[in-house]
Amino acid sequence: MPFDSGHHMPGGLPNPAEKRGAARRVAVGAVALAVAMSAYLATSAWDARERGLLVLVAVLTVIVGLLLRRHRLSEQRLAAERLQLSVAVNNIPQGLVLYDASARIIICNQPYIEMFGLSPDVAKPGCTMYRLIEHRKETGSFDGNVEEFCNAIIRTVSLGKATRQLTEAPGGRAIEIVNRPLKAGGWVATIEDITERTRADEKIAHLAHYDALTDLPNRVLFRERLAQALKAVRPGEQLAVLYIDIDEFKSVNDALGHAIGDELLKGVAERLRTCLKPTDVAARLGGDEFAVIQTAIKKQSETTQLVDGIYAAIRCPLECSGHSISTDASIGIALAPGDGLELDQLLRNADLALYGAKGDGRRTYRFFEPGMDARAKERRVLELELRQAISDGGLEAYYQPVLTLEDGKISSCEALLRWRHPERGMISPAEFIPVAEETGLINELGRWVLNTACAEAANWPEEVRVAVNVSPVQFRSQTLALNVAAALAASGLAASRLELEITEAVLIRDDEMALEVLHQLRKLGVRVALDDFGTGYSSLSYLQRFPFDKIKIDRSFIKDLAGSGASSSIVQAVVNIAAASDMTTTAEGVETEQQRNLLYILGCTEMQGFLFSPAITAVEIRRLLLTHRGQAVSAA
Ligand code: C2E
Ligand code: MG
Ligand code: MG
Repeated sequence: MPFDSGHHMPGGLPNPAEKRGAARRVAVGAVALAVAMSAYLATSAWDARERGLLVLVAVLTVIVGLLLRRHRLSEQRLAAERLQLSVAVNNIPQGLVLYDASARIIICNQPYIEMFGLSPDVAKPGCTMYRLIEHRKETGSFDGNVEEFCNAIIRTVSLGKATRQLTEAPGGRAIEIVNRPLKAGGWVATIEDITERTRADEKIAHLAHYDALTDLPNRVLFRERLAQALKAVRPGEQLAVLYIDIDEFKSVNDALGHAIGDELLKGVAERLRTCLKPTDVAARLGGDEFAVIQTAIKKQSETTQLVDGIYAAIRCPLECSGHSISTDASIGIALAPGDGLELDQLLRNADLALYGAKGDGRRTYRFFEPGMDARAKERRVLELELRQAISDGGLEAYYQPVLTLEDGKISSCEALLRWRHPERGMISPAEFIPVAEETGLINELGRWVLNTACAEAANWPEEVRVAVNVSPVQFRSQTLALNVAAALAASGLAASRLELEITEAVLIRDDEMALEVLHQLRKLGVRVALDDFGTGYSSLSYLQRFPFDKIKIDRSFIKDLAGSGASSSIVQAVVNIAAASDMTTTAEGVETEQQRNLLYILGCTEMQGFLFSPAITAVEIRRLLLTHRGQAVSAA
């Protein structure tokens, strides 16, 4: 308790001897406090600013103690305590100069002398502030007008106000000088090297505006930059906001772990940067969402070119800890001033455009169109209605026959979902499956199709299999094999008569878990087909990762089969690879005799398409299977 002298004479009068003793205790205590504090503070992890303040408190404590004692203690004792004091003030990290009321130095500590590289012969008690600053000018740490500088400080502190200045010391270090007036007259100047603190502040400011993972501007800075860019749009020019969402990023994270997910995001950020001109801005808004501001656009084709560049950059596989990962993205674009000059409106429109791109099957981009708002609302309605349909039986499974090219017999039928909407009529699965996938409804829906299709196929001739489509989302739920086993058990269908169709998207992420599920399914005895082969990622390496029973060649190749393009050689290659690994091939979307004949020549095993039959109801397929069997038998 250095400031509480505590003991008073009876009657409340102070005892002079005790007062002296108390004053001495105050002084010694103050010095001890200052020394202890400076030693503690020098080693503690306190924030520099707090440390500075506390040191100042300690130093002021010493000064008050010193002033209290001055006229009370003998010269000798004073000298001893001055020494202690100088130990204390020389051990604080800040520079410190104590001036008396006539602007002469009482104390100037060692850190001050070192900070500015001064001579201790000049910077010592008795020296005037003018001389000290002049000396700093001579030695290069001050380049202003000495008189003006000193007068300004003296004037301010004499009014009882503090001053604060920033200056630079040799070596480019940032120095903060604070002059605080003292009640007893004079003032104390503390000089602090705030280089580290400034750097820390800068770092904090950086963290507040940049994403820590990718070092791209974050949402906050993105909005600031966009606001600036919107103000700077010149007549005749446009600005584009691109919302970029990495497709199926969640499955990378789930399957390969966050570390690899992070690497992928960093890689995407790196590639995005390479696509932009210096005035454009790329940002990470969070998760797998990125954004770009493209400035000074003269023609909309510049934006399409940028988008093409972004796709080319991110579609190229990224190496992440030994995994080669391909990515793709959905991109929504809004243009200013056309789609709005107001920041939030523009962002909302870019978001709607992104929603539109996702709705169109992802891996694509969309410019904002006025109808998108209505469509987004429609989609939300669709989601609610789909929920309803699942619970009250508004869904139906149709079946499309698949024929063996060699003998024209129906070898299997593919179950294809149909939704009979009370007002809108039939809704295509291409429209509602993505909604179901996004909302997780696909799991319920998938179970329903499995059960329905297995139960139906149990009524078909034994040689006819049933094929059921399985979404990549169902692979993530981990109960797929269980659901399949349950559907087989409930229907009594032999496992070998069930074929599951999966798309490449299941395997795209180098997904060990997906492979495990596939092997579980294989153990159950069901067949597994790779659907829509050739679309999107189309890598033959997937065929080596899992021994599929069948490859279904996408409709897009069949459509161009007779043309001059590469389709027929691609089909030929797939057929050859499949044959070499004991897989069969099914051509999807066969619509003409010519296509069928070509496929037969190319050695394809099966065909499916409107040429023979579209997907038809369960009742119709039963009838077809009966008559077809009769026809096939009589034809044989
Ligand atoms: P998919 O599995 O590739 O199914 C083949 C699609 O091609 C079906 O479209 C079918 O009607 C259509 N198609 C068949 N032959 C022809 C033809 O000759 N010409 C043309 N232009 N099209 C033909 P659909 O029924 O609209 O289904 C679209 C997609 O929706 C399916 O593609 C499948 O990916 C998905 N899907 C359908 N039902 C289910 C389901 O129960 N579960 C899951 N996860 N997805 C399903
Ligand atoms: Mg299919
Ligand atoms: Mg298909």
